[in-house]
Amino acid sequence: MSVNQQAHTGPPYGQPQPGYQGYQQPVYGGQPLPGVPQSQYGAYNGPMPGYQQPVPPQGYFPSLGFPSKGSPVSLNSDTSSLAPNFIGSSRAPPTSGPPPPASGASLPSGHLAYSQFGHGDVQNGIPASAAPMQRPPASQLFLPGSAPTPVSQTSTFQQYGPPPASVQQLSNHMAGMTVGSTTASAPPPAGLGYGPPTSVPPVSGSFSATGSSLYTPYTASQGSPPTSVSQGLPLAQPPFPGQPVSTQRLSTQVPGFAPPPSSTGIGPSSYPPTTGAPRPPTMPGPPLPGQTVAGPPTSQPNHVSSPPPPTTMSGLHPGPPMSGLHGPPPPTHPPQPGYQMQQNGSFGQMRGPQPNYGGAYPGTPNYGSQPGPPPPSKRLDPDSIPSPIQVIEDDRSNRGSEPFVTGVRGQVPPLVTTNFLVKDQGNASPRYIRCTSYNIPCTSDMAKQSQVPLAAVIKPLATLPPEETLPYLVDHGESGPVRCNRCKAYMCPFMQFIEGGRRFQCCFCSCVTEVPPQYFQHLDHTGKRVDFYDRPELSLGSYEFLATVDYCKNNKFPSPPAFIFMIDVSYNAVKSGLVRLICEELKSLLDYLPREGNMEESAIRVGFVTYNKVLHFYNVKSSLAQPQMMVVSDVADMFVPLLDGFLVNVNESRTVIASLLDQIPDMFADTRETEIVFAPVIQAGLEALKAAECAGKLFIFHTSLPIAEAPGKLKNRDDKKLINTDKEKTLFQPQTSFYNNLAKDCVAQGCCVDLFLFPNQYLDVATLGVVTYQTGGSIYKYAYFQLETDQDRFLNDLRRDVQKEVGFDAVMRVRTSTGIRATDFFGAFYMSNTTDVEMAGLDCDKTITVEFKHDDKLNEDSGALLQCALLYTSCAGQRRLRIHNLSLNCCTQLADLYRNCETDTLINYLAKYAYRGVLGSPVKTVRDALINQCAQILACYRKNCASPSSAGQLILPECMKLLPVYLNCVLKSDVLQPGPEVTTDDRAYIRQLVTSMDVAETNVFFYPRLLPLNKADVDSDSLPAAIRNSEERLSKGDMYLLENGLNIFVWVGVNVQQGLIQNLFGVSSFSQISNTLSTLPVLENPFSKKVRSIVDMLQVQRSRYMKLIIVKQEDKLEMLFKHFLVEDKSLSGGASYVDFLCHMHKEIRQLLS
Ligand SMILES: [Zn+2]
Repeated sequence: MSVNQQAHTGPPYGQPQPGYQGYQQPVYGGQPLPGVPQSQYGAYNGPMPGYQQPVPPQGYFPSLGFPSKGSPVSLNSDTSSLAPNFIGSSRAPPTSGPPPPASGASLPSGHLAYSQFGHGDVQNGIPASAAPMQRPPASQLFLPGSAPTPVSQTSTFQQYGPPPASVQQLSNHMAGMTVGSTTASAPPPAGLGYGPPTSVPPVSGSFSATGSSLYTPYTASQGSPPTSVSQGLPLAQPPFPGQPVSTQRLSTQVPGFAPPPSSTGIGPSSYPPTTGAPRPPTMPGPPLPGQTVAGPPTSQPNHVSSPPPPTTMSGLHPGPPMSGLHGPPPPTHPPQPGYQMQQNGSFGQMRGPQPNYGGAYPGTPNYGSQPGPPPPSKRLDPDSIPSPIQVIEDDRSNRGSEPFVTGVRGQVPPLVTTNFLVKDQGNASPRYIRCTSYNIPCTSDMAKQSQVPLAAVIKPLATLPPEETLPYLVDHGESGPVRCNRCKAYMCPFMQFIEGGRRFQCCFCSCVTEVPPQYFQHLDHTGKRVDFYDRPELSLGSYEFLATVDYCKNNKFPSPPAFIFMIDVSYNAVKSGLVRLICEELKSLLDYLPREGNMEESAIRVGFVTYNKVLHFYNVKSSLAQPQMMVVSDVADMFVPLLDGFLVNVNESRTVIASLLDQIPDMFADTRETEIVFAPVIQAGLEALKAAECAGKLFIFHTSLPIAEAPGKLKNRDDKKLINTDKEKTLFQPQTSFYNNLAKDCVAQGCCVDLFLFPNQYLDVATLGVVTYQTGGSIYKYAYFQLETDQDRFLNDLRRDVQKEVGFDAVMRVRTSTGIRATDFFGAFYMSNTTDVEMAGLDCDKTITVEFKHDDKLNEDSGALLQCALLYTSCAGQRRLRIHNLSLNCCTQLADLYRNCETDTLINYLAKYAYRGVLGSPVKTVRDALINQCAQILACYRKNCASPSSAGQLILPECMKLLPVYLNCVLKSDVLQPGPEVTTDDRAYIRQLVTSMDVAETNVFFYPRLLPLNKADVDSDSLPAAIRNSEERLSKGDMYLLENGLNIFVWVGVNVQQGLIQNLFGVSSFSQISNTLSTLPVLENPFSKKVRSIVDMLQVQRSRYMKLIIVKQEDKLEMLFKHFLVEDKSLSGGASYVDFLCHMHKEIRQLLS
């Protein structure tokens, strides 16, 4: 809230909580604060009297003094009784002591405290990280590497004006790729694509070689770039305004897409005239919240009302060589199995539309019915169209070896698939923020003309690799962070100090603010403060401020958060072994709760609830010999029957907790209860956190549709017949608004809900997930959970989820410099106004995608600035502000926009935009809108930036040459075009997952990684080079691994050598391989070890533990696997890459004609 201008006037922070004023902060008392000497924190310890833990008398009656509805009962029964009983135990309490402290127990602080006055402290190195342990606490993830990187080594740092000439050169270089053009005859220089390494800002010398060698690329492929790609020369001089930029330097031309004869094309009657002023876009921009996605513009006949005249077919035939551009001769492959001969000329020389193609673009039935002779049976060579693998490999070899230094405005970072180190010199790392374009059009008209969405994908608490420095923590004492008087932007490297340092001018709103006396510093002869390098907020792109009490709810520093574990103990959960599994795991997992810095133990308190159609609360107070259960059967008006003893410190209550976790599985072993509740469970957790006056997280383990009589009761409304109808959107909408209201209450309290689902049938993820989604939580789903096959995956997910870095009670605001503003937001959060993104919890894996729109003109000289401020409570209860700043270039030439785009980020935005669209529009409408927008993006490029001499050629901007293939993957994804095996819950689940994904996750989710295992080098740590996702790339004699972030498939060809099968599976023949394996057998041979290490390496990279599925060629499961070969036509009717590229080409040509 203090991201706002008013620190504590608005909801939800303004309201004191009646009835709880007297409740004192337990646990917190005089506890040392993390990472900094306690003396710096007078405000923390002063007003907060240490909480005296009252010692209850023996035989303490828990319901005394509490609402009378609470009835403590014997744990031997899950029916109500009125007598409080200790859990009658024939077992002795566990005698084993606490587990030995983990090796991370003495971890150094995750943050370096910046002393406000003693600058000498700043340069202190960061202590070396502890040896890795098997399950490190999440806070360890934030350890900086052992090599300190002093902030003052920024020799190239002062360049915040227009980029220097060498940088301009860089962007010109970046435009220099063409594919399949005559320039291919010139041998490509080394290091092409994104400019030679020398054009990176001069940093050599300031970065040790060892730093980068620690973080090596996955593959050792440093091979020379493919000969089919060549680099154009840098522009000798900048183009004159209005003059088209040379196409070859900016584009990829796809061979085979020849220009149509000039006399052909779509008649003017179908299309708006293109003369005169820039044509207004026919497609409105993305809708605002609540606005539905517009249908395809009627001016676009598409394929329905006016099929293109047959003569346009000739336009797609391999035309005469034009202006020296020769594509390779179209190959004459026979059609692949499964592909039919072409039925229609629209697709020219490539293989024709396949059966069901119309399903991909409903409304295109004319594809197959158009009269005319069958077209030539030539097909476009898939090798000649832009390859994701090639782009990824090129970027790795060109950009993976040098650190990415953030000191220069508007630099496009390496791709997310490239391993690189980041050096913060004034802009936030791309691990925190990635943009769709790093060069923004100066005017709204230009932006609309291009249709390129301006968006940033922000991951405020992203985990950094150990070699990179964590954001420093800055403590300005009681005065708090320095901010602009008007727009409240936080001090950052772009603020201009004036009048000898007495005032500063805001880089966002231009307002001049007095420098507070304690913050005054003299300026040097260049106008820079002399303490510039000593202050992270003046010299770095990302840093943290310690928040003052003004930034806290109710003007009180927060208590440490709590975790509440809420376990479904109905028949299904017990019978599957799930309850026992969870309880066993929690016994050890509770020792790995997130800790801050060098704290010896986590400050997080824990509580336990079990439920079926009633709720059972447990008193696990350390003074008890045995835990106590209290049953609340009145679920209509949920309350918490005990305050004291419900949320406890793990170490203090260790034996009581262990006893409870031992007994829960036995207590419910004979249950017959199948009906369960859901909303009252969340309400109970929420009430408990309210009572304890803290934020926290609920971990709910849940098996089925909540049909028991209670608030939030649901009915089974699954109906697959709604697919492809106007009512399909209802499948994604919650069936009641009850959960939206509950989510709002949860956000107000900082109650984040993580949901682990174990359904055997439909349980309405779309409704159950509402609270999770709006509170910033995570959802995990294990359909048909079986212990033997799914427990590893579940336990790994649970461990990571419990341990990971998380902030609570978070509010994020993105400020921008004058001219643009944040207008739309995508992600798991709640918004009560138009600017503040509220999250009860925000973990290190969650991203928020923010869209920007112009509200004024931008200036090329001053560029555009973003500042993301996240106010949150750390896992130790410290209130902090994390600030990320990013400066972008602005352009008056469209070519500069297209040169500085990032397609992976664009796809992240487009996918989230589309996935939200299905809530309000038929999926067909959403798909059509996506296609249309991308066609406009590419047509605008074609019209304004490409050479006019190649009118019919498909020309793609170099930075967007993968847009068609990736867009096609989004269009045929399960949410937008479900296959027959995809359930309604699957679709709702995936929709939620994607909405919080970062760019790397959407990249691999939509275009999975396919690795040939036979090519794995058993003697190296690297992964084999990936191949394209198409069946025709697979060999029957090989094995392949495919991963998409949720699943790992191992595909075995029918002709794989027996020896390899023996080595990997331990069986002697193909037929003996079991396709029910969920892990690879552990065998002592190099191939087995290598493949398992690859699997492990991939698992570590992903935020979720992927399910391993063995697929034998020609086996039933192969259909599932083929679904992920995204360059091929899909069973559900999704187009192949080749077909889609042709379709896009046609759309573009229609827009241009
Ligand atoms: Zn300002």
